[in-house]
Amino acid sequence: MEDCGCEVRLINEIKGRGLIATKQFKQGDVLFSEKPLVSCQFPWNEAYGYLACHHCMSPLENVLQCAARLSNNPAIELAFTELDQPPTIYPCSMCGVKYCSTECQVESYNQYHRTMCLGTTEIVEEHPLNILVEAWKKFHYPPETCSILLLVRIVATIQQSDNSDATLNEFMQFCHRVTNDKDRIVHKLLGQQFEQQIEQMRLLFINAISTEKVDHWCTPEGFRSLFALLGTNCQGIGTNAVTRWYNRVQDFLKTNTTISEEEKDRFETSIDKLYYEDFENATGSDFLDNEGSGLFKKQSLINHSCTPNAEVCFLNDNFQLSIRALKDIECEEEICISYLPPCQLEDSDREERQETLSENYLFICRCSRCETENDVMEE
Ligand SMILES: [Zn+2]
Ligand SMILES: [Zn+2]
Ligand SMILES: [Zn+2]
Repeated sequence: MEDCGCEVRLINEIKGRGLIATKQFKQGDVLFSEKPLVSCQFPWNEAYGYLACHHCMSPLENVLQCAARLSNNPAIELAFTELDQPPTIYPCSMCGVKYCSTECQVESYNQYHRTMCLGTTEIVEEHPLNILVEAWKKFHYPPETCSILLLVRIVATIQQSDNSDATLNEFMQFCHRVTNDKDRIVHKLLGQQFEQQIEQMRLLFINAISTEKVDHWCTPEGFRSLFALLGTNCQGIGTNAVTRWYNRVQDFLKTNTTISEEEKDRFETSIDKLYYEDFENATGSDFLDNEGSGLFKKQSLINHSCTPNAEVCFLNDNFQLSIRALKDIECEEEICISYLPPCQLEDSDREERQETLSENYLFICRCSRCETENDVMEE
């Protein structure tokens, strides 16, 4: 956390640790950026042809390919496509999974892919990893929030690490919210209806990867805590070739004086049509992105507030996360983000927010907004 202008401190007994600003930030400033310790695209998302780098989730389609797929219209036309960055694809020479760069290929291989590479481009249905993923997919239809392959990547990362104990310890840091569960809220992933699925997953999981060094995660109890770790700490990641292109066009239009206002208006109108008619009718607005999730070390230390002063964003069209100031932040102020979906943060009342937060993140929110709304209710 050195020099980024933020510091981890104990906030209080109830909240535990949190992140404090050690300097001023202006609205719009990026406080820090980080790559995930581990991340993974969701299995249905991948199966439906959302083409992303196997490692960083950068889109591997160009804008026209992506727009054609999402609108189900192979003849779709767009302006300014020359501003799109045409991706080059680097496949694993053994199993064929696709990368955006040799850097991603090497990083993936050295971190977890050496353990997980299937070694063939043919689809081997009886491979334990494929059996595991197919079983998972049957229990978890879209919209997806988690992937069993993320758990496999975590274990593979520990197995391949030069210092397995330190790497294991890094992942164990994420467990604090679950083990210090003072409010005794039962995590929804651990509810009764998941009991049998989790046991079946556990057996297939043990079969799919060597669990040496992580035996404590393979007992029924340990495997549940692993799920709880993901449930409470995973951050969604979304990337999209159309968004990447659109942002470039925006930058271009801002700086280019030869384009008339009419042409700019025409472009914006065409984008509205693209999203609200073409994509909405063919795919639906909830399924536009390459989607996955990851574990982020610094971001996971940031507490929730229903009036957040910062937000999570993905500025590089890949898995690199940035924390951006939503308003001016003073030195010594706690940095807070919202764990709630944007629409719920804006529109829902205290009770509804509390229910989502306690069910998914195991805490009762005592932010200023919740406390104020609480006072109003009691009066
Ligand atoms: Zn990549
Ligand atoms: Zn491979
Ligand atoms: Zn709150």
